[in-house]
Order: sequence, then structure tokens, then C-alpha cells
Amino acid sequence: MSLFTKAEIRQINDCYDDLKREIGKRFDAERMEKVGKAFLFANAAHDGIRRKSGEPYIIHPIAVATVVARDLGLGATSVIAAILHDVVEDTDYSTEDIRNLFGENVARIVDGLTKLSGEMDTRQALTLKKMLMTLSDDVRVILIKLADRLHNMRTLESLPPLKQLKVSGETLYLYAPLAHRLGLYAIKNELEELSFKFKHPEDYKHLLYQLHDQEEKRNYLVNEFIAPIQLRLAEEGIECTVTHRLKSMFSIWTKMHTKGVTFDEVYDLLAIRIILKAKPNISEKRQCFEVLSLVTDIYPPKPDRIRDWITMPRANGYESLHVTVMGPQGKWVEVQIRTERMDQIAEYGFAAHYRYKDAPAPENELDRWIERIRDHLENSEYDAFEFLDEFKLDLFASEIVVFTPKGKTIKLPKGATVIDVAYEIHTNLGNKCIGAKINQKLVPPSHVLQNGDQVEILTSENQIPQQQWLSFITTAKAKSKVKNALRSEKKQHLEAGRELVEEAIKKHKAPLVANTIKKIIAHYNLNNKEQLFSEVGMGIIQLDDLGKILSLKSRNKFIKYWNITFRGKDKGIEIPGEEEPGEDATGLLDKQKPFLLKENPDKIAYSLAKCCNPIPGDDVIGYISSGDHVIIHKKICPKAEKLVASRSDKIITAEWTKFKKLSYLTRLNLNGFDRIGLVSDITTIISKLHSINMRSVKFDTHDGLFEGDLFLYIHNTEDLNILIGELAKVKGINKVTRVENLND
Ligand code: MN
Repeated sequence: MSLFTKAEIRQINDCYDDLKREIGKRFDAERMEKVGKAFLFANAAHDGIRRKSGEPYIIHPIAVATVVARDLGLGATSVIAAILHDVVEDTDYSTEDIRNLFGENVARIVDGLTKLSGEMDTRQALTLKKMLMTLSDDVRVILIKLADRLHNMRTLESLPPLKQLKVSGETLYLYAPLAHRLGLYAIKNELEELSFKFKHPEDYKHLLYQLHDQEEKRNYLVNEFIAPIQLRLAEEGIECTVTHRLKSMFSIWTKMHTKGVTFDEVYDLLAIRIILKAKPNISEKRQCFEVLSLVTDIYPPKPDRIRDWITMPRANGYESLHVTVMGPQGKWVEVQIRTERMDQIAEYGFAAHYRYKDAPAPENELDRWIERIRDHLENSEYDAFEFLDEFKLDLFASEIVVFTPKGKTIKLPKGATVIDVAYEIHTNLGNKCIGAKINQKLVPPSHVLQNGDQVEILTSENQIPQQQWLSFITTAKAKSKVKNALRSEKKQHLEAGRELVEEAIKKHKAPLVANTIKKIIAHYNLNNKEQLFSEVGMGIIQLDDLGKILSLKSRNKFIKYWNITFRGKDKGIEIPGEEEPGEDATGLLDKQKPFLLKENPDKIAYSLAKCCNPIPGDDVIGYISSGDHVIIHKKICPKAEKLVASRSDKIITAEWTKFKKLSYLTRLNLNGFDRIGLVSDITTIISKLHSINMRSVKFDTHDGLFEGDLFLYIHNTEDLNILIGELAKVKGINKVTRVENLND
């Protein structure tokens, strides 16, 4: 007897039927039976349990299994593991039970997934580290984990807003890049779109409306562009589909924010994809280049804008031929040319190798990548947060290819230096690197490599890893190797220093106690004993006058350090020690409710982040720093995004109340065509708006163009938007943008 109602049982069965329809086409009877067994087992295990939304819990694992089968095209082992993925975590069954019932492979994957779950609110960086360690065991664990996350994002609606913000922040920060790295474009896009929707609901709605508004015009332009291509390809007997690739809403929005461009400017770019059915017996590469040549017969290509990812695929396996051509409307259009096989890889990445098979993928680029991660994990001792930062470098970077003297290719992130490539080849080569010969020229270790360089690393036995290398190294691998080397060197100095100090103290017959050490530290004006030991170890401090120091009577020298924080504008400096007792205790904030930003906060203080300079009306969040002090960031601030994803336990939602009295410094950047009277027109507009005061203006003109910075005191975004609207109307002004950074 089930604990659910009849209607709920029907819902469960419908959901399971959906999965069966998906896998029925390709699983044999034996596999279908195993899946059925897994369903019955999981269904009984989760019986009576509900999700936050109220629906039976079992709906979730079945939906995840459906994503695994449909969107990732994985085999029976993965589908069964997906159905069982929350059983060990949420019920009384153990991995051992799973092993007895479903075999070793399924149990291993479920075990991996169980280890990855757990409280996501604490240290997500640790989760990533765990995730990557699992990755090196069986990629299917990560693929199912991504499916799990995808379904959680699809059903995020039923969670409270703060939870939505955290989960989508984490998705954007960790899971989407990971999907990208694995080449799962479809899943990456959906994760990004959903995160965007929940993180910035207002912007999302607005953008949706704008896209809808442009649709008809868009379709017309696309058809006008592709019709001649389709005709020509048909004449040549080339079978293919030509589609219009819509930019995702998230990428449009990101571009608008990071590059400060308007919707029209981003949306203006057309992108077309030609997917051809490759003929047998002719290389796919040749067929793609033939299409390229037909396309460029019709539309002239932009010089230097042909990208050949077929001869040299990207590290995530992506293959395609890209060209930018001049379209009939006088606009650049990007055309991507690829075969159906390449398209599968483009959509599903490494999962494409697993699709419709139930075996691990053959040796490929992914293995190389995983090996890099494994290396990195084994070599790194530092904290998970630091690890995450560096790992992201590798996740996002675009790549260059360089050659060894023997012609072997090495893929590296863009911006990689001689040191990076040295460590990529071998740790010892990195440690001893003194420079390189590139295309017959000598270059220093910091030299940034160009695509196609042939690099010969030069070494010296006397070389050791240098601290300064850390300032130009770009790969996570090289960074962790250098840090480890420096750390062990430092440790050696420290140990040697400790021995020298202790010997010296004994020699002067002073007691070997903390007070003695303290006296020495004070004498040399150092911070702590570690610094003393390492400076002695390195020979910076000689301990010559130790006798004199130890004979001095200790004076009661007491220095108190104040932790000074700057709180808000015009608030002056507050010293924490002078706060009322109890204020410092955490827990005063109700994290479930939005933090209200008032003009005259009575008790709990907040300050506005210097990195993004929010003003009243901006979409903001709060970060709880020490002692319940809240720092307000704009939601789109990169630093805030990172905090939401990695320290979500310290994030609260925040709302502005009415702000009318205080003013905030804001910067606008203007550009356009210079003319007589322009500056006075601009200043007249500002002086007419009584709520805004100007602090300074800076204008630069050259060759008839001007660029200017306005620094203004402003109450809130409402007033700011009115001003921007007015300024945009001024003759000659091309663009008005708000600049977050007030400093340069
Ligand atoms: Mn789950």
C-alpha cells in the first residue's frame, strides 16, 4: 500500500511512462526489466516523502533519469543510477544494498552521487573539489549530477526567493561552466537561462518582451540571408539543414552588462548554422570547406575571420568551421558549418561518445583534461576557495595551441606564458625554466605565447621556482606547482630559523619560553614568531645583539590594534570596541526577510560596496560580514556573484526604502560628436534637475569626437534614469552609460 493518494500515484506512473517511452526505443527487454526493478525499489524507498513543492519525491529521480536518457542519451547503467541517486542519501538503504541488488557499476555511481550531495549552503568550493575528484573516477557521475541540477533548476519555482537566489547563483558559478567544459551546450544554456530568470526576474521579463517584439523582423532578415545559400547548396546536391542560431537570453544580457552596449547592438548580430549530412568516402573536413567556399562565393568573408576548429578541435571536443561574411543588409553574419556528427558533439560534448552506448568513452581530450585536474588536486594543499578561483581560470579561458620542438601540440589557455608551457610538459622543466626559444628568438619566462608558436624551453640546474612567477602564470597547474615549491622552501627556512633561534637562546642561557621569543620579536619589530624564524632562516636577521636584547628588562609595552571599518557615506569612522555590548553577536539579522536599507539605520549598520557603488533603486543583495555588518552589492557585481555562489550562507536579500535626503556619488560616461555648445547643453540639463548635483565634469575631444565623464550626486536610480533619458536626447550624444568604478 502506498502512502500517496490515487491522483498522486497516477502522477508517478505518468512520469515513469514518460521515461519508458524515451528508453523503450533503444533498450532491450533485459535492460528495461532492470530499469523497472530500479523504479519499484526507489518508489518504495521514497514512499510518502514529498518535495518542497508538495509532489511525491520519486517524481524527481524519475525526471532526472529522463534527462539522463533524453538530453544526454546515456545507457541503462546511468538511467538506473539516476533513478536511485537519492536513495542512499535520503532513506535507510546503504550503498551495500544497492550493490547487492543492482551490481557494482550502478553502486559506484550512486556512491559518487551521494558523496556529492549534502549541505550545499556551506562551502561550495569543497563540493566542486569533491566533484572533480569523482570526475576522474567516472564521468557519468558528473553527467548525472548535472541532470540532477537541471531538474532542480526547472522546479526552482517552489522554493523561497532567497533559496532561489542562492541555488541559481551556484548554478551559474559552478554547474554551467562545468557543463560548458564538458561540451554540454544545450544543458549549459538551459542552466544559464533558468539561473538568469530566477536571479534577475525583472531583467528577464523585459528581455523576453524585447525579443518577442523583434521576432518578425528577425525572421525576415534570416530568410533573406539564407535563401540564396540554400538554393546554391541544393544545386550542388549537398544535403543539409540551415538554421538560425538564436543567442541565448543570458548571453545577450551578459554582453549588455559587461560591455555596456544596448539590446539592439547585441541583437544585431545574425548567426547561421549549416549542418550537412556528410557523404561517405569523402573526408568531412573537405565537405565542410566545400560549403565554406560556396558560401563565400555568395557573400564576401571578413578577412581573418575564418576559424577552423575541424583541423584542430577545441579541448572540449568541439569541431566546426566558422566564418563571418557580409550579408545583403550590409551587416556581418556569422556562419557555422559542420556535419551532423560534429553537431552531436557540439550539443552533447563528451557525452556524445557515451550516447546510445553503455560503455565508457574512448581515450580522448577529456582524459587529458581530467588528468590535468587530478594532477592539480593531488598537488594542492591550499584551501578549497583558493582552489576554486584558480580552477575557474581553466574552465573559462579560451585556448591557444603551441608546438614543441618536435612538433607535438600543446593546448593552453589564452595568455599562457613560457612558464605555463614548461609546467605543462613536466614539473621539473617548470622548476628549472630560465626562458625559452620561440621561433629562434630568446624570450624570458614571463613571455606571453601566441597561437602557433614553436617553443623550446631553456633550463638551468641552478634555477628554482620564483615568487614573482605567480604574477604572470595563467594555468592552475603551474600555479599550484610553484606555490607548493615555494611553500616547501619556506618551510625549510622556517625550520632552520627555529633551530638557530633556539640554539642562540640556549647559548645565552636564557629560558626557552614564549616571553623570551616575544622580546626578540619586539626588538626586531616583527609581527610574529613565524616571521622571526623565517627571516633568521633566510639570513636576513643575524641575532648578533641577542645578549643585549635578552638582558633588557621587559617593559609593559602594549599596543592595541583597532579594527577600523568605514560605514556608509557621511557616517564617519566607527570603532568596533565602542559598540554597545551585544551588537557584535550574530543572529540579530532575520535572514528570511529582506534586509531593509533605510536612510537612517537605527541599529544594524550597512555599507555600500566600493567595487560596484550601488545607489538606492539598484537591484542589490547584502553580504553579512563580521558582526552582522551588512555590505550592499549590486546584484550584477562580479564580486557579489562570486559571494552568492561560494558563501551563500552569508547572503541576504535587500531592499531599499525611500531615499530622498542622502546623495550618492555616481559616474556617467558620455560619448558622441563634438559641437559648439554641447558642454553647456549638458550642464544646463543637469542644473535644471534639482535633485541632482554635479561634482565634476571631464571632457576630451579629438578629431570631432568627444568623450566625457560626469561625476554626480544623486538620490536614487529613478532620478538617474530621468537624467540619462534627457542626456540621450541631446544632439550629438551617441551613448550614455553608468560606470560602476568611480576611481580611474
Ligand atoms: Mn537529486
